[in-house]
Parts: sequence; structure tokens; C-alpha cells
Amino acid sequence: MNIGIDIGGTHIAIAVVEKSNIILQKEKVYNHDFKINLLNSLENFIKDTITDILQEYKIEKIGISIAGTIQDNVLLYSTNLGLKNIDFRKILEPYFNIPVTVNKDSFCAGRAEKEYGCLKGYDRNAIFLVIGTGIGGIRYLNGNIYRAGYGHMVIEKNGRQCKCGKKGCFETYASIKVLRDKIKEYLKVNDIDGKELYKYLLLNKENNEISRIVDNYIYDLCIGLTNIIDIDLPEIIGFGGSFSYYDDIFIDKIEETIVKNNLLFHKTKMPIFKMGKLKNDAGIIGATCY
Ligand SMILES: [Zn+2]
Repeated sequence: MNIGIDIGGTHIAIAVVEKSNIILQKEKVYNHDFKINLLNSLENFIKDTITDILQEYKIEKIGISIAGTIQDNVLLYSTNLGLKNIDFRKILEPYFNIPVTVNKDSFCAGRAEKEYGCLKGYDRNAIFLVIGTGIGGIRYLNGNIYRAGYGHMVIEKNGRQCKCGKKGCFETYASIKVLRDKIKEYLKVNDIDGKELYKYLLLNKENNEISRIVDNYIYDLCIGLTNIIDIDLPEIIGFGGSFSYYDDIFIDKIEETIVKNNLLFHKTKMPIFKMGKLKNDAGIIGATCY
């Protein structure tokens, strides 16, 4: 058995994982006190939780998934977390005497979907996009995994300002956050959580204004997708992050929108589109696959 740790932008989760099964999971949302010294709080939470787990389970390795830029198991920086140059491996390995690996969240989610989920069996040329607050991506080519910067491909000249510094990036048009903001604006509400948004869109499918917002969103998404398809010619594109919960609302519209608007150059190269199977558990499961 292994331990997976998912250090996200707003919460941390620690799970005992056996293959694709989560045996038990503990979570902590970063409240005000926790955030005063985030690194310290994370370290304490991890040490306490794992110490408890080790009373009951024999653990072979610990895998960490982090929203940030990772090199050689070191977190170089994470804008979301405000952390820089953190070596969790160095902190945790001697403490527990168990091997620790650290990987980027999209790498972990993509790896889990490749081993156990929607990309299983697609070894030649597969792409996985994690669509949530932003867009992350990875590519599998002949069995090897590659990092990909799909979220920051420009789809509109002088377009929306991206937090990366560029303008018109794919993620400023096609992240779930963009759709959520549009619906919030339409409903004149301050917030709507993921589950509410999904229910609302499903119940109001026939509403003209709502379907216009969703169709526009999918159109922008398809511009980015077809750029990726025409360059990389993948056999499949899998979707993770909160986007993967919208199977019955989005998935059929994607191919429809591409064909109707003539967005693809390589007409015969339409890939399969699939939602991730493991949903938000993909990161924590994938963290243990390295
Ligand atoms: Zn950008």
C-alpha cells in the first residue's frame, strides 16, 4: 500500500491508496490560521496524519502531487500556494524512512488516467487536459509522458489577460472558472459551487441564454482543442479536473461544434474525446504511480 498526498490550491488531502482504490482519506481546507505559515502547517499536518496511518498500515512509498512547477522532486514555485524552492522529499524521507516522490498535479492525474482510467490502452499518442481553475496538460507519445503547455497557447490576439503575463491564453477562455464566472454574472450571484453549477446547467439546458453561454464556451474550447489536434494528431484526448464531471453536458457538443464550424484541418483525424474516470481522485492516485 502507498500514501498519496494532494497539495492543492485550497486544501490538502492525504490518502492510503492501493492501485486505483482509496482506502481512507483525510482532508484539510486551508483556513486562516493554517495559512499564516502555510509550509509549517502543511508539514505538521502531513507528519501527524502519516504517523497515525503508519500505526495501522504498512506503507511502501509516499507520492506527492502539487499544483506548481516541479523539477527533480523539488517544488520550484507555486503561484497558488505562494511557495518557492521546497524539497518535501528532504523533509519527509528521513522523518518516515519511506521513499518520497514529488510530481506536478497534471502529471499525477494524467498518469492515473493512463494506468487505470480513460487513457488506458492508448499508448501511441494520447493527450490529457486537466481543466479546472486553469488548464494543464500532458502528452503520451509511444509510452513516454511529456509535459505540455497547452493552457498557455494563445487563441486570441490581444485577448484576455492571463496570470502568466501573456494575453489571450487558452485557459483564459476555456477553464471551468471562465464558464462559472459567466454563469455567476448571468445569475448575479457572488458564488456558485461546482455541484450547483452542474445541476443548474443540466436543468436549464433549454434556456436560450444559458445554452448561448455554454455554446460560446465550448466554441472557445474547440478552437484550442483543434489547434492541439492539428499539431499533435492524438488518437484520444481525455479531460480531467472539474470539467470531467460534465460528461452529459459537454462531451457530445465538442465533436458537433468542431464539425459544424469547420475547425479542423485534418478532417479525418478527429480523436476520441473521453472524460476522466477517476475525477478529482486522479491526482492523489497518480501521485502513487511514480
Ligand atoms: Zn497564460
